[in-house]
Amino acid sequence: GATTQKHEFQSDVARLRNIVINSLYSHRDVFLRELISNANDALEKLRITSLTDKTVLNDPLNITIKLIPDEHGGRVVITDYGIGMGPEELSTNLGTLAKSGTSDFLKKAEGDAPGDTSSLIGQFGLGFYSSFLVSDKVYVASIPHPSKANPNPTQHVFSSVSDEASFEIYPDPRGNTIGRGTEITLVLKEDAKDYLDEAKIRALVEKHSAFSTSYPIYLFTRKTEEIPDPDYVPTEEEQIEFTDAEEEEESKDEVNIKVDVDEDEAVVEDVTETKEAPEEEKKKPVIPLKNVTTEEWVQLNDQPPLWTRDSKNVTQEEYDLFYRATFKDHNNPLALHQFKGDSGSGESFKALFFIPPALGPEFWQSPKPDTKGIRLMVKRVFITDDLGDDALPKWVSWLRAVVDADDLPLNVSRETLQSTRFLRQIKQVLIRRLISLLTRIAEEEPEKFKKITETYGPALKLGAMEGGKDQKKLAALARWDTNTRKFIGLEEYVASRKKGQTQIFYLAAVGKKPEELSGSVFVEKLHARGYEVLLLTDPMDEILVAQLKSWKGLTFQDAAKKGLKFGDEDTNPEDEKAEEARLEEKFKPLLTWLKEEAKDTVLDVVISNRLVTSPCAIVSDTYGYSANMEKLMASQVS
Ligand code: ADP
Ligand code: MG
Repeated sequence: GATTQKHEFQSDVARLRNIVINSLYSHRDVFLRELISNANDALEKLRITSLTDKTVLNDPLNITIKLIPDEHGGRVVITDYGIGMGPEELSTNLGTLAKSGTSDFLKKAEGDAPGDTSSLIGQFGLGFYSSFLVSDKVYVASIPHPSKANPNPTQHVFSSVSDEASFEIYPDPRGNTIGRGTEITLVLKEDAKDYLDEAKIRALVEKHSAFSTSYPIYLFTRKTEEIPDPDYVPTEEEQIEFTDAEEEEESKDEVNIKVDVDEDEAVVEDVTETKEAPEEEKKKPVIPLKNVTTEEWVQLNDQPPLWTRDSKNVTQEEYDLFYRATFKDHNNPLALHQFKGDSGSGESFKALFFIPPALGPEFWQSPKPDTKGIRLMVKRVFITDDLGDDALPKWVSWLRAVVDADDLPLNVSRETLQSTRFLRQIKQVLIRRLISLLTRIAEEEPEKFKKITETYGPALKLGAMEGGKDQKKLAALARWDTNTRKFIGLEEYVASRKKGQTQIFYLAAVGKKPEELSGSVFVEKLHARGYEVLLLTDPMDEILVAQLKSWKGLTFQDAAKKGLKFGDEDTNPEDEKAEEARLEEKFKPLLTWLKEEAKDTVLDVVISNRLVTSPCAIVSDTYGYSANMEKLMASQVS
């Protein structure tokens, strides 16, 4: 019609749709997960809007998601009463590729052999476009909630046919049928009609979407049942017996005593005996059965939210599914912890946090923390997943948590939360719980701890470096290789110290391998004397030990610094001095010559007793920065 607008798909979208349409059969299931996830997002957006705009939820519409398999029409209809879209939004959101993840997908999909696309779909998720995995034609009818700017929105339709490069947007000829939100109608492909099957939809939601939303998902069901025909008229005989039986049924719990008030003297008559009909006369009428079709909305996700359940009754698989759905990840978390807490100022809350499977490159590239680590709920209702300035500190901003506060008012805003100090306390509790979880894993599951440390070790060191009251606990989680062992923490080092040892020896060189450090001349003499030397290769290590200064009474000692004392020298100081003087005299010509030759590079040339097999070593001044530290500082200046 005159109001229909035809639009060309952005070229990216056309490419993506082709990939989707041509992709393998085995990944079709994901369409439902994607559409439910979008419905959930739309409901959450509505909820957030309602926090500031009180008119939004003042209507009677349910905050739900509804699925209708329309067998007759070969369609599946998915409706949410969420934020909805106006015609422009329909065009930009569904007609262009705004999603960065999807462009990543495109790059990979087109770079790889075509056969690999299917595995990529499993990994990335395709959002709205996955509709075309199962449908030839898709209609999206949508209407936003009324607002000041648009008090009388009209329902519009976005329609798209799978093999056409354009889509249409037009006012819905049916008028406003949704009220508010979005209704997606998928006209199923001939070979995708099995998605009309209730049992199939139910299984899919259970498998992929049980944790994608905390809003109820209702499935429209039709059941054909055999029930006793309600229109059947019993025969006269059946009627009498049936009525008797019913009366008896009703009087069962009452006292079976009748008082005859017509007599002067009330006659109390026990009628229990006489009312009891003989067994053989108590035949129920034989009512014929009739086939009836009942229609019903059945809630598919009727489990309470995972974090409110007793963790004993939650399986690892459920946690994994929850993590993947909630935090939109494709892999399972490395560890998790569920607990009930108290903010310290009276508000109790439930929390569930995860250590994600990987740390994105942006963690080390950007100095800013990821602000989306905590999903804040109040009494199970989503409030925000972006805490902005109140986010977790940088070093732990990768943590993924759901925090559900019990006692806060539902219309609480982030500003209010901030002023109640609730957020600050919550963060402290989360960090403390994370540290004790890691400490427990380190003790009880060394292999798992190793795996976590591979990814998060440097981040934990960053946390320790930042100081604060958790510094010691975080430092205790740091691990290094030594000249004799691998993956050693400070506790282990101190526990296996030599008798009389008063120092923790270390050698630091950023970017070197522990093996290289192990063969260094600085380690030689310590090794020969049976000392363990921590081999520090991470930029944070040296700053951390400089901050800690000591551990359990042992001071950190750089093995590469001048004037190294072992603490167990057996010669008496007088003899040693004499020997030093003798050697100095003997090698004076050499020292003078070396000092002159190398005067632009070194501060001094001295005779040392630290070396075992190497003839010389370049060391840093006792009070200066070590060479490694200087390298680090130089890199920060530039
Ligand atoms: P993503 O969800 O990752 O953004 P999608 O392709 O799934 O990508 O959706 C694209 C955009 O379309 C969404 O970001 C959203 O703005 C809009 N959208 C999709 N489905 C709905 C819906 N049911 N209600 C409101 N907006 C929607
Ligand atoms: Mg989506």
